[in-house]
Amino acid sequence: MTRAGWAILLLCAWAAPVLAAAPTAMVIKGTVVTPDAVIPGGWVAIDHGKIISITAAKPALAAARTLETTDIIFPGFVDLHNHPLYNIYPRWTPSHAYHNRYEWRGDEAYLKAIANPHRPMAPGHFCDIDRFVELKELLGGTTTMVGISQPRDTDISCIAGLARNLDWFTGFYGAKVGPERVVNVLGVQPDDVKYAPASLAESLKKGDADLLVIHIAEGQRSDPKTRAEFAELEKQGWLTSRTAVIHGVALTRADFAKMHAAGATLVWSPRSNMELYKETANVADAAAEKVAIALAPDWSPTGSTNMLAELKFAKQVNDGQFKGLFTAKQLFEMASAVPARTARIDDKVGALKPGLYADLFLLHGDAAAPYDALLKASPGDVTLTLVNGVPVSGQGGYLKTLGVAQIEETTLCKAQVAINTAAAGGNLAETSARLGKALTEQGVSLAPVAECD
Ligand SMILES: [Zn+2]
Repeated sequence: MTRAGWAILLLCAWAAPVLAAAPTAMVIKGTVVTPDAVIPGGWVAIDHGKIISITAAKPALAAARTLETTDIIFPGFVDLHNHPLYNIYPRWTPSHAYHNRYEWRGDEAYLKAIANPHRPMAPGHFCDIDRFVELKELLGGTTTMVGISQPRDTDISCIAGLARNLDWFTGFYGAKVGPERVVNVLGVQPDDVKYAPASLAESLKKGDADLLVIHIAEGQRSDPKTRAEFAELEKQGWLTSRTAVIHGVALTRADFAKMHAAGATLVWSPRSNMELYKETANVADAAAEKVAIALAPDWSPTGSTNMLAELKFAKQVNDGQFKGLFTAKQLFEMASAVPARTARIDDKVGALKPGLYADLFLLHGDAAAPYDALLKASPGDVTLTLVNGVPVSGQGGYLKTLGVAQIEETTLCKAQVAINTAAAGGNLAETSARLGKALTEQGVSLAPVAECD
């Protein structure tokens, strides 16, 4: 091998601690939530980063480490709508409802709390921000995410393969950090369209890209600018079976009928919608038109810190405004199987099935009612998160049982939680201290790593 070849190999080994790992075999006992059935006291066997079997009896797997629990085993969440670089900012509560997303983005209060501090932070502290926000997702059970944006002239090779980033690095298609098969376009206003990839409509049609995620109709139903966006999406040729419409607050039943005909998915982020506009998408109309609905947190400042918190909020809206339209199981699927199908990665993640990657989490809760337990949970109840068969966080005892040597203990929602610092490429306390100091210099503070109630 040439010297350059060795350099690339070494760089990759450093750059992808989790997703390039060749993890040891393990068998984990718990209540296993599979697409077809819940298996109490079942076993998940994992080798070379993949699930090799799910059985009622303990499997024989040579040299496997054994973790026996009474916890619930869920597939890792797939988050199709987030702005992770902004998840270092504390909750921002607007003083009034806005008509559309363009209004608050120009509001002095928003500029002061988030946009202005962010300008120097994003390029100056990219790797620390990336580690902090990926851990924030992982500690709440999300293993696949989207939306890290590349600040100008910033080296992003530290998107290290901790969580899977669908638009930058998943570990599915080699070791290179760079654009992958999910395309993120902010919206359909002229400034957004200007930065969209050339011939996007054509590449969606041909399948050169797997998914376009795009903000559409994010604002109040009475707002003409918000209402006009769906027609613009159609006009661009971007309403396809490879399109995920984010928010869709102002969409009508007729719009949802067109989405169903095209095979597009709705990504629902109720908390951020209610916070900014006091309205959310009419998911009853979307469901009536058989549109696939995924759930996602949007971002920490006005949405949720992670999927667990967004699930709790979605349950409230579901039980209130939508009169219990969706079951607890359906809400869980909106955060796992549906987004995985939408991103065309359901042959890789999004469910517990033999052959899929071992991206999963364990939850401490009532195993007799696993979906209800999920909707009540906080990050302190997540007892283990695996990506690619590598334990990245969880109870210290579990990590040690699974052979993790480098551990950082921390307190999360009154629970003792540990982080695999080799997998994380660093220490959360030190990362938080550096970010906190830099944010203080910008006149703001660092967001908590989790919401607890
Ligand atoms: Zn958004």
